[in-house]
Amino acid sequence: MQTIAERLKFACERKDQAAASANRPSDSIQLLAVSKTKPVSDIRLAYEAGQRLFGENYIQEGVEKVQTLSELTDIVWHLIGPIQSNKTRDVAAHFDWVQSIDREKIARRLNDQRPEHLPALNVCIQVNIDEEGSKSGVHVDELDGLVNAVSGFERLQLRGLMAIPKADASAEQQQRTLQTLAELFDHYRTKLSNFDTLSVGMSGDMDEAIAHGSTMVRIGTAIFGARTP
Ligand SMILES: *Cc1c(COP(=O)(O)O)cnc(C)c1O
Repeated sequence: MQTIAERLKFACERKDQAAASANRPSDSIQLLAVSKTKPVSDIRLAYEAGQRLFGENYIQEGVEKVQTLSELTDIVWHLIGPIQSNKTRDVAAHFDWVQSIDREKIARRLNDQRPEHLPALNVCIQVNIDEEGSKSGVHVDELDGLVNAVSGFERLQLRGLMAIPKADASAEQQQRTLQTLAELFDHYRTKLSNFDTLSVGMSGDMDEAIAHGSTMVRIGTAIFGARTP
């Protein structure tokens, strides 16, 4: 059995190697440790090993962890899971980033409910890049409208795009998907300031995602081990 510190180190090395293969500086890609379903003690171990960016999927679980670990003030907490509109107040009060914005209504509520003593909430728009019926995210043909709406909210800072490419795609389809995503990202990056984040790549596809311009990989299993449902 490897420790969390060892797995984290290995994941960072893998990220750095993928960056080197793509001729990109390794610090142009951040690693988000996805700690969903894992205990706070696991987060502490990763923190002690130097990790500062953590991602949670479930709002209630995430808020509890943020509160429990509030003395670790330099953790940056990302919400990466679906948001129900009756939970936006909790999200606005406890997270630093929300990567799963896929409709204006949720963005507006987060904007209105972001507490005044906190800086603007960093957000990414989640794109349903493979147009999968079952998956959250805005469809590509509606992305422009949502980008315009979100970038107008003063208490939100639109930082980029997030996507979860289809898991069982062929290598060609995966390449096409990542290429399309990179083009969308580049398109908006030239038009918007502080738009610097392309969040794509998980334990299974981080190398390909980095080759296609990802600036943030979201890694759960490779750091914390398999999740028991
Ligand atoms: C669970 C999850 C991850 C991490 O997936 P792993 O395969 O465990 O690395 C990344 N992004 C999102 C949105 C997730 O829900």
